[in-house]
Amino acid sequence: MMTASYQVDQGIALITLENPPVNGLGLATRQGIVAALKQAQADAAVQAIVICGGGRGFSGGADIREFGKPEAMAEPNLPQVIAAMEACAKPIVAAIHGMALGGGLELALGAHYRVAAGDAKIGLPEVNLGLLPGAGGTQRLPRCVGVETALQMIVTGKPVAAAKLAKSTLFDQVVGISELREAAAAVALKAADSEGPLPRIRDRQVPAADFVTIFAGARAMAAQTAPHFPAPQRCIDAVEAACTRPFDEGLRLEGQAFVDLIQTPESMSLRHAFFAERAASKIEDIGPEVQPRAIASVAVIGAGTMGSGISMNFLSAGIPVHLLEVKEEALQRGVAHIRKTYEKSAQKGRLSAEQMEQTLALLKPTMDFADLADADLIIEAVFEDYAVKNAVFGQLDAVAKPGAILASNTSTLDLDKIAAVTQRPADVVGMHFFSPANIMKLLEVVRGKQTARDVMATVMALAKTIRKTAVVSGVCDGFIGNRMIEQYGRQAGFLLDEGALPAQVDAAVERFGMAMGPFRMGDLAGNDIGWAIRKRRYVEQPEMAYSKTADLLCERGRYGQKTGAGWYDYQPGDRTAHRSAEVDQMVIEHSAALGITRREISDEEIVERLIYALVNEGAQILSEGIAARASDIDLVYLSGYGFPLWRGGPMFYADQVGLSAVVKAIEGYAQGYQGDAWIVAPLLKSLAEQGKRFNG
Ligand code: NAD
Repeated sequence: MMTASYQVDQGIALITLENPPVNGLGLATRQGIVAALKQAQADAAVQAIVICGGGRGFSGGADIREFGKPEAMAEPNLPQVIAAMEACAKPIVAAIHGMALGGGLELALGAHYRVAAGDAKIGLPEVNLGLLPGAGGTQRLPRCVGVETALQMIVTGKPVAAAKLAKSTLFDQVVGISELREAAAAVALKAADSEGPLPRIRDRQVPAADFVTIFAGARAMAAQTAPHFPAPQRCIDAVEAACTRPFDEGLRLEGQAFVDLIQTPESMSLRHAFFAERAASKIEDIGPEVQPRAIASVAVIGAGTMGSGISMNFLSAGIPVHLLEVKEEALQRGVAHIRKTYEKSAQKGRLSAEQMEQTLALLKPTMDFADLADADLIIEAVFEDYAVKNAVFGQLDAVAKPGAILASNTSTLDLDKIAAVTQRPADVVGMHFFSPANIMKLLEVVRGKQTARDVMATVMALAKTIRKTAVVSGVCDGFIGNRMIEQYGRQAGFLLDEGALPAQVDAAVERFGMAMGPFRMGDLAGNDIGWAIRKRRYVEQPEMAYSKTADLLCERGRYGQKTGAGWYDYQPGDRTAHRSAEVDQMVIEHSAALGITRREISDEEIVERLIYALVNEGAQILSEGIAARASDIDLVYLSGYGFPLWRGGPMFYADQVGLSAVVKAIEGYAQGYQGDAWIVAPLLKSLAEQGKRFNG
């Protein structure tokens, strides 16, 4: 079925792209356009052609459903469609509403004329997938909007409203949406009456500018802001070719760059992350027939670090929040923190003073549980202690209205046990936010044994409203992210015992690309948190070994930034980590106390042991069904743990390395190291033996 319709009215052939949701330029649509162009050229009654999009917009670009499939490359490909448009003897006008993005904009650039609605989003976002526009976008856009705007759009990938480009020669007219059809028809008929060759963007020159300075500046900027990605530099090369070389030569260079980029690990990682995000929003047994519950008001219990951060997500989305505390002082502190955070945003110009007051007016501090009776969703963020949490859930049972969702932000406790305290375990779910909760993208949505399907659907939908990246996790200690990071942290500890120092370990994994090494991370989060977890483990799982250095550190009161000293030293009011001679000494003495002869440890070993510890635990999590898919684990690490985006997440990275190489490395390290048995996860082992990957 061709997904472009054709109709003729008063001498104008109207070609409408009909491929919902965003008129992706899949094979059927491309075929439809070419067939319609042929028909229009053959029809003597047609004087001019208007091409437009049905539904939400003109076109969102390539059809992502075709990604990686043969159809994506099948002819007519997009450059061929555009060539057919440019070669058409009858004038073609692109009428753009909603959006013309990526291939959609490139298609419009192939028309002889363009008319746009002022609010249409215009952009070339390919760089976000590690690519560049491969159908002439880098050559045609600069010829219309000038080199600086084109670079801005192509290198950042950010769309711009058509109205902002009205002064350039990109559009023949920018109009209100209601006038779009009429304006496009008028341009088409006028063009049909004009003499001479039809205007093609390829015949224009890029407006003169100081190209040398501009490109040097753009390259320096890209090197600084995206040092690990090749695509921005290739985008710049292509735009430079548009300025300095004949059109067809520039087009060839662009094509070559596209072919090169699509094979880079960086682009593969970005595309993996893109699809991981889409996949994570789907839960296998919850289809569109499951209606989410309405969430018009939220309550948060506990106004500490997490509770106040969590509240801001809803306030910013315009959802009223009752914030409940038991201690007046803690309530005041939480409210003051929220106000201060919004004031800072207002100072930075992110919201007006009026918007700030409107947002803050949605916050209703309270110390009375009865005030929670109307809340559609109640999120508990009190101390990490069963007794405290159970008492809270017991009270909620009494006050919450029927159908209210009861969520816990617990990091480590068993959600099913908490749910069992209530008369309504089906309404209980985990919403595991990350600190600072108003900023961090990740939200682990913890599905208990009895959590209702519509509760899951509601929380997943709500995550989108508050702009979080939601990943579903089953119930286990630490869920996906923290359960894995514990293994990473354990390896980091053993490395200290065996011969490394904290700064060396951090530097090695930071060079690999982790936003922060394990010791800097510990200092930021508070080393006492891990200490409390370990103390529990020593009792509950005595078979699990830990390096004791972190305990020694905590015994000295070195909890991290909050105490001015942790693995590193800190100056008051400054988060810069300074290497600590005291800690280095402590580490070395501890090795001696253990009778270990310290050895030189390579950066490669550090990175492999830390990252493969994540991978191994990730495999275990996958085989237990705690995570539904390997890409969910990758998403957790990309959005919540500072894993380098250009490596696609731990599981994707392991796939790239090759699982048998990962297994071999783990087995090698397990031989000599100081911890307990490092056992390769059975799933990892069997995938490696079969030559398979985690991600398909
Ligand atoms: P916090 O100590 O900063 O805040 C807890 C607050 O809860 C305190 O203000 C306390 O007065 C209040 N509180 C205690 N009992 C209460 C009750 N019965 N009713 C109402 N309020 C009560 O702790 P936090 O760091 O915000 O952690 C809260 C929860 O979030 C814990 O379960 C923790 O495991 C989880 N969590 C913490 C982080 C983190 O990085 N801090 C990250 C994810 C999840």
